[in-house]
Amino acid sequence: MNFILATNNMKKLNEMQRILAPLGINIVTAKMLGTTLSEVEENGKTFEENAKIKATAACKELNMPAIADDSGLCVDYLGGAPGVFSARFGGEHGNDEKNNDLLLEKLKDVPLEKRTAHYVCAICCIFPDGKEITVRGECAGLIGFERDGTEGFGYDPLFLVGGKAFGRYTAEEKDKISHRGNALRALAEELKKIL
Ligand code: IMP
Repeated sequence: MNFILATNNMKKLNEMQRILAPLGINIVTAKMLGTTLSEVEENGKTFEENAKIKATAACKELNMPAIADDSGLCVDYLGGAPGVFSARFGGEHGNDEKNNDLLLEKLKDVPLEKRTAHYVCAICCIFPDGKEITVRGECAGLIGFERDGTEGFGYDPLFLVGGKAFGRYTAEEKDKISHRGNALRALAEELKKIL
């Protein structure tokens, strides 16, 4: 069965393909089908709402099962911020440098034990008949005092798990414990029940 993934992020595509291929699911992007998806406003208050907005729009537009994810970082000291605003925390959408600078600034002088955080990833799958599956994966860690490593993306150079930043994890190491890996494994379990 073909599923449209509502993103053109090739890293997400590869990760999803790796985990869902054994279920007989083939993930494709609009680009791979020679088309484009209209932009949708991600104005949900939760990761789940945003994932559903994206998946619903893609399913309607191409009339095929659609998958979308929405993810971000929640820092306890900041009351759960940046949360759904993670990509644009520093003021410019997708500017990882500015986002990390602002995070370090906001946590200046905060001791390590109060720098707890977790990544969240919600994935929503919508079928043309209206069936819906939504799952969530999380990954707990601490926010470091300086950038470490060049792997991954986003807040990974600052996100410490087991005393080491995600910026120094290989993709395979990260997949095993990451919020996105956990959400995808939960999705695979749910899909197994209905396919
Ligand atoms: P989106 O779900 O692709 O919109 O990602 C939202 C934002 O959350 C990204 O721009 C990153 O700043 C952050 N984020 C989500 N997942 C990760 C991750 O695995 N590593 C680092 N940053 C992440």
